[in-house]
Amino acid sequence: MGRIIGIDLGTTHSLCAVMGGGGPELIPNRVGTYLTPSIVAITADNHILTGAAAKEMSLLEPERCAARFKRMMGTNHVFRLGDQTFSAIELSSLLLKSLKRDAEAHLGTRIEEAVITVPAYFNDHQRKATQRAGELAGLKVTRMINEPTAAALTYGFHDRHSERRLLVFDLGGGTLDVTLMDIFESSLEIIATSGQSMLGGEDFTATLLQWVCEQEGTSPNQRRAVDPRGYARLWKECEAAKVRLSWEQSTALRLPEPDGLLGEEPTTLTLTRERFESLLERFQPRLVSCIQKTLNDGRTQPEQIDHVILVGGATRMPMVANLLREGFGKPPLCRYHPDEVVAMGAAVQAGLYENHVAVEDLVLTDVCPFTLGIAVSKQLGRDYRTGYFLPIIHRNTTLPVSREEVVYTLYPNQREVDVMIYQGESRKIKDNLLLGHLKVTGIPAATEEQEIFIRFTYDLSGVLEVEALVGDSGRTFRSVLSQQVKGLDEKDLQEALARMAQYKFYPRDQEAHQHLLLFAEQVLAEVSSRRRDELERLIDAYEAALWEAGQVENGQTWFFESRQKLTDYLEDLGYTLNQPPEESDFGQFKP
Ligand code: ADP
Ligand code: MG
Repeated sequence: MGRIIGIDLGTTHSLCAVMGGGGPELIPNRVGTYLTPSIVAITADNHILTGAAAKEMSLLEPERCAARFKRMMGTNHVFRLGDQTFSAIELSSLLLKSLKRDAEAHLGTRIEEAVITVPAYFNDHQRKATQRAGELAGLKVTRMINEPTAAALTYGFHDRHSERRLLVFDLGGGTLDVTLMDIFESSLEIIATSGQSMLGGEDFTATLLQWVCEQEGTSPNQRRAVDPRGYARLWKECEAAKVRLSWEQSTALRLPEPDGLLGEEPTTLTLTRERFESLLERFQPRLVSCIQKTLNDGRTQPEQIDHVILVGGATRMPMVANLLREGFGKPPLCRYHPDEVVAMGAAVQAGLYENHVAVEDLVLTDVCPFTLGIAVSKQLGRDYRTGYFLPIIHRNTTLPVSREEVVYTLYPNQREVDVMIYQGESRKIKDNLLLGHLKVTGIPAATEEQEIFIRFTYDLSGVLEVEALVGDSGRTFRSVLSQQVKGLDEKDLQEALARMAQYKFYPRDQEAHQHLLLFAEQVLAEVSSRRRDELERLIDAYEAALWEAGQVENGQTWFFESRQKLTDYLEDLGYTLNQPPEESDFGQFKP
């Protein structure tokens, strides 16, 4: 049997891990780092690039690249890359395929199965879309687990003999999840979870970018319309300034020209942490209410929490750590790297699936993060009114769960019912999310109202199945919901598989060269004109050597020399390719 890997498929970064002899181990990608940027690009000759090389390309040719597509999972949004279009499912599948290849190269074995993590608050469409992306990438998705649950698994794996109540606060690029859980005697019990699927570090960068544009008397949309490269570079500068403000009190934000060039002495804008935090104030109520909701659902007071665990890149912001410190009266805990802890937990889950000896005695229970039910009519006074929500599975019910409710036909001789299925907490369906519907036909003609049994089954991956049984006739109708989003139906699968098969990945052995070339080209936009000529000459020489490497005598020597010269010169300028992530200062959060 091949190995099952764990994949953290993030909005901004993705990672893979596998269960090793001593515990979960991260898998390096083809450029030797653990974090793979969740970016897909298509080159002019229709080759797919992902990860670090695609990230460089997103600064040079943003119109050929897509990022943050996880936010559009489970919707019908279409991404345009060059003259091609892709759905979020297809882009995710390309990313997954490249992660799978990296893992295969590193482990030296075929990988056909994976545990993929999703935000706890991902709805049924988003989960099915993730599952479908896996299938398109040639991966059987053994299980999807919630990201905070995965983080907790990492803590639980290493600390299983303690008895604790934990709150996992996971603020990534695009989503916030807050989860409450207990660890005792190797068992991990999720008690309650809640979240927001449109709140994360990318919103903070977007807020900063908006502010910068206002200072310049323009707007993000205008800036993008003038030149997408200028916009992409400004985004990069805003993101870098945001990250610096996690360590510094004040920073100079470089302002690129509309076409993306930074020029000899770029204009800068000074930004203090205080000012930045005041721009983000409007997000605070959402962060707080999410924590409050989880605590209320779990009937827990802040003082009862033993540890608050930080997960996700955006939790490095002092604003976030301070908020949690004040709310819980103790500093949050960050024993494992917040970028890596989810992937490691996915590997622990994969280990549980493989019956790996290292996880033998670990038991995990998770919950359904939201209420699921159907639309019904209610008799209010003398009239029947439509549009009400009948919950069948309540939020925070332990998984897996199967529940049944009985509903009745509304009038004599009613022969069919369209069961509308919703997710949400409101008593009216208009405020909840429609997941799909199930048409029940062939109800026997009768003068009295007929019973219809509706059964909801919510599995360990968070995928919902609905069954309807017509009382007297014994007829059963079954549906795995997916009708609302394109690309999820079974008939779409073959079509998408064929479509995806036509895309070729950039040849693996040449991707590193392409990566260096793109990296050097995007550095060009940042250096002074004095150094620019020399850099451009070295890039040209490298590109020429790349063409000739396999074709002329001594081509290889020429190639390696020109590569070395280019990297040396870039280093002189202060630019290093594949710099390992900065050692971050987590000391302050350690217990
Ligand atoms: P995801 O899992 O959604 O891909 P990550 O957990 O990788 O997200 O977090 C990425 C987000 O964290 C990005 O928005 C990034 O800008 C932000 N981020 C990373 N490091 C820092 C930092 N030091 N300070 C502030 N934000 C950060
Ligand atoms: Mg994440």
